[in-house]
Amino acid sequence: MKITELIKYLEQIAPKSFQESYDNCGLIIGDANKEISSVLIALDCTEDIINEAIQRKCDLVITHHPLVFSGLNRFSGNSYTEKTVVKAIKNDIAVYAIHTNLDNIIDGVNSKIAQKLGLQNCKILDPKTGILKKLVSFVPTQHLEKVKLSIFDAGAGQIGNYDQCSFNVDGIGTFRANEKSKPFAGEIGSIHNENETRFEVIFPNYLQSKIISALLSSHPYEEVAYDIYSLDNSHNKVGAGIIGDLSHEFTSTEFLKHLKSSLDISVIKFTPFENTIKKVAICGGAGGFLLKNAIYQKADVFVSSDFKYHDFFDANQQIMIADIGHYESEKHSIELLNELILKKFPTFAVLKTETVTNPIKYYY
Ligand SMILES: [Zn+2]
Repeated sequence: MKITELIKYLEQIAPKSFQESYDNCGLIIGDANKEISSVLIALDCTEDIINEAIQRKCDLVITHHPLVFSGLNRFSGNSYTEKTVVKAIKNDIAVYAIHTNLDNIIDGVNSKIAQKLGLQNCKILDPKTGILKKLVSFVPTQHLEKVKLSIFDAGAGQIGNYDQCSFNVDGIGTFRANEKSKPFAGEIGSIHNENETRFEVIFPNYLQSKIISALLSSHPYEEVAYDIYSLDNSHNKVGAGIIGDLSHEFTSTEFLKHLKSSLDISVIKFTPFENTIKKVAICGGAGGFLLKNAIYQKADVFVSSDFKYHDFFDANQQIMIADIGHYESEKHSIELLNELILKKFPTFAVLKTETVTNPIKYYY
């Protein structure tokens, strides 16, 4: 298999346009057209992970955290990043990251954590804006069904649990063809009126080129009139964090025990909470920025990591903060990626790392 086939599949699930502005998802080292025989999955890309890839004969390393976030200006091997980049290149190992794009989908890392905690009715905690667009086009009415089906097939018109959503209104389109044209209807040089239907559909931004090609190839006109609008609506299946319900109410101590055993955690930092716990908000990795959303959506507990000392005061008996550690919250991305790849390529050699990359140790 070529690297590009695997990337294409992963980015259909977690499109790169879903990543945050500071991120650097995608193929960081290597040639996308290279044939690969096995892949190693890890949370972080460290020198130890590259060593493991060499030892276990993997040509590609897929990690959640990108090895490089921004430009490197020297490769002398002084920092762990430089050392890792140099080692990967010298050993012809490709490196790929799927980070905030995987965090921002409803079936991503947070969903994996929610599944382990047994949460139900899960939805995105902070739905993302800037993803949805609207396409408006004008089609001769007799050709409308064909054009719409082609656009729906390309992925437009999905709203929640509904597909093939569109709005249609009939009207008259006008045009005058010049000598160089081959008009679908009317005479060259004369103004023509055609019964057309204006139709509107929404679509996520990453499908734009596919949807425009579907429109152009199915529309009968030589020159197709269409408009694309960016929408301010949020996408209810894309965004940060997740929120869902436990099957029953837990006391705070019962919940902490449940959290510890379900996610295999050795230590939890938390703020005491007097009420029972039923609604749980989750954000794998550093999630302090979502505390207000978790409180607003009436979560009883917010499970995340990397809270600062003063953040814990903000819990203020409105919510319990449970800080389970960055590595501990995101190590589940390894299992998630392993499952995703094997679902599509069941016979491909996918190896989960045996290296613990957590730079933090606990002393009891
Ligand atoms: Zn992280």
